[in-house]
Amino acid sequence: MCRHYYEDVVQAVGELGYPFVTVEAYALTCGRPQLLSYTDQIFERPVAASRADLIVLGACAATPDALPAKLDAQTQLIHLNHCLVMLAGPELIDTETKRGAYLLSPGWLRAWRAHLYAWGFDQALARDYFHESVEDLLLLDTGTDPEALSRLEEFAAYLDMPYRVRTIGLDYLKLYLAKVILEWYLKTSQSETKRVLQDANRKIAEYAMAFDLLVDLSQIRSEETTITAIRHMFAMLFGCNNLEYAQIQGHQIVAVFAKDGHDQPERHAELAQVLASMERDHALIPQEEGFYLRIRYHDETFGLVVVRHITFPEYRNQYLNLGLAIANQCGLALANARTYSMLREAEASLRNERDLTEELRQMMAHLNSNVEMDAMLHQVLVQLDKIVPHHQSHLFLLEESTLRLVSAHPVEGQVRLIGGEFSPEQPPFAEIMQRRMPLTLDEAALASLGLPMVTGFKSWMGLPLLHQEHLLGLLTLGSQQEETYTPSQVTMMQVLANEVAIALENGRLFREVYMLAGTDPLTRLYNRRRFSELAETEFRRVQRYGGKLSAIFMDIDHFKRVNDVFSHAVGDQVLEYVAKALKQVRPLDIVARYGGEEFIIVCLETGLSEAVQVAERLRQTIERTPVETLSGPVQITMSFGVATLEPDLRTLGELIWRADQALYHAKCIGRNRVCTWKEAETH
Ligand code: GH3
Ligand code: MG
Ligand code: MG
Repeated sequence: MCRHYYEDVVQAVGELGYPFVTVEAYALTCGRPQLLSYTDQIFERPVAASRADLIVLGACAATPDALPAKLDAQTQLIHLNHCLVMLAGPELIDTETKRGAYLLSPGWLRAWRAHLYAWGFDQALARDYFHESVEDLLLLDTGTDPEALSRLEEFAAYLDMPYRVRTIGLDYLKLYLAKVILEWYLKTSQSETKRVLQDANRKIAEYAMAFDLLVDLSQIRSEETTITAIRHMFAMLFGCNNLEYAQIQGHQIVAVFAKDGHDQPERHAELAQVLASMERDHALIPQEEGFYLRIRYHDETFGLVVVRHITFPEYRNQYLNLGLAIANQCGLALANARTYSMLREAEASLRNERDLTEELRQMMAHLNSNVEMDAMLHQVLVQLDKIVPHHQSHLFLLEESTLRLVSAHPVEGQVRLIGGEFSPEQPPFAEIMQRRMPLTLDEAALASLGLPMVTGFKSWMGLPLLHQEHLLGLLTLGSQQEETYTPSQVTMMQVLANEVAIALENGRLFREVYMLAGTDPLTRLYNRRRFSELAETEFRRVQRYGGKLSAIFMDIDHFKRVNDVFSHAVGDQVLEYVAKALKQVRPLDIVARYGGEEFIIVCLETGLSEAVQVAERLRQTIERTPVETLSGPVQITMSFGVATLEPDLRTLGELIWRADQALYHAKCIGRNRVCTWKEAETH
């Protein structure tokens, strides 16, 4: 407003209490009569209000057509014919003007001499002018200038004019200003509201689109497809066509996808650095009108979105806010996708495990049905092939202080190793034996061992065969593939090894009981009962399918004397020795203690002459080797009777009877010899 009203308006605005309004006077004082040349300066924006909305009050020095054709968008002109209208309203001004009053404001009065001077009036001219045009002087006293009344008196004396005072205070001015300011406020807040509304509508549209896309995201089951969908969504929302997405697993960038959807390995390092330096979930890229956005869910970071050169950079912050709002949803979708694929994997491995369990069950069936140790162990290794991939497997049993290789698969090329002894103290066996834990080794570790069983493999696994506290042996697998054995396979193999150990132990116990029932405790040879069972089976088989079978019956010569001369204990030692010597026959032959110092051997696939040879060889061995006893070396001899299966023979009993007859004959004709039933019969 004009300078003349400055104090009044400052005080009124202060009393109204609008902290957002500041008051400035025009750069130049305007005046009456109208000073057209001043118009431009009136509209010059005060420096202090360079950015604010500007309301220009009055400008009564300018005629409406002299007003600038266009004010800037932030300037509003309230043109008044007389600024006094602000103080007292048009009615009072009109009435008093019509009554011939010259209306004065305290502000104008403050510099009345300067005004007269500016108009070019001296006292005489001024008196003429005022006396001609007005009846009296009227001060509209706003109360803001305590000097106003004395100045009025001076001015009136100078003009020799009567004067009046109307105390108007600031009430009208305050109402007037409040109206002006509130109108402005309403208008601008309306346009602000409109802008906010427009923004809100645009945001709602974008959010709606984003949430539509997010709903789709939550349907996707694989992380890769989710990432593709997220990239497309951000590109679409932000009008950005060079968006990058860094895929993160366990704090590491594993891939950076750009427009073509392929990994950009050269971008990993830079984005890893960005990620490490980001303190919050976003960071601006100032030069490129873009931003980084972290995609995470709870504490896990899944990705980093890089947005550059967005189409409407002025909306960057809004895009960023939108991005932040949906980043969490993206994180959730990615977390779900990962969980889903983990579930799928778990499901597949469960299915796999179920198949394995079936294999295991079959294997266990083998384990439990087979009392023949060697066959059983070999069956275990054969079955293993289907459970855990490998190229060779070995089974060692702990025999006192050595590990004996009892079975190998495949057998080809390894026959000569079977039965071999290994030290339990040598690596890699020692570690498994000591820790009683499975051990896996890679190619380098295996090569350094220099052990024929393990060299040439790229991965290897060894497992202890543990039964309760007892270490029974080792099971080992070798593969020509690298990193074949996963921890879950090792765990499964250990379960299997434990089953094998149980089977071994069961087998051992079984055999023990079985043997005790059929074995002679002193010589560990079959007893007569067990011999009869076994020999009967073989006898029937040969009778049915054909083939040869012979029996050798033998008796120690003058054994009674051994007992008598030395002792019963020495006699026992002689019996033990003889049993050992007899066991030197082929494993298929059935060797038994038939009675006190009588033994019998049933030789399979053996004719009469071969059986005689066997008997003769045994006779010579016994004769030539004195028995080491408690009482020193004891020399003994044995007599042998041999019979063979012939078409007229119908029972095993008959065969044994013939061999016994032959033995009797050998005794009769001088002992320490081999006789056949033929010889005995013809004699
Ligand atoms: P021959 O040459 O005629 O066979 O004479 P022999 O003394 O061997 O014959 P005989 O059958 O009369 O004697 C067998 C002896 O074997 C009688 C018995 O005391 C002894 N004997 C049988 N079983 C055992 C055993 O388990 N331990 C010991 N020390 N002696 C046994
Ligand atoms: Mg005898
Ligand atoms: Mg006898």
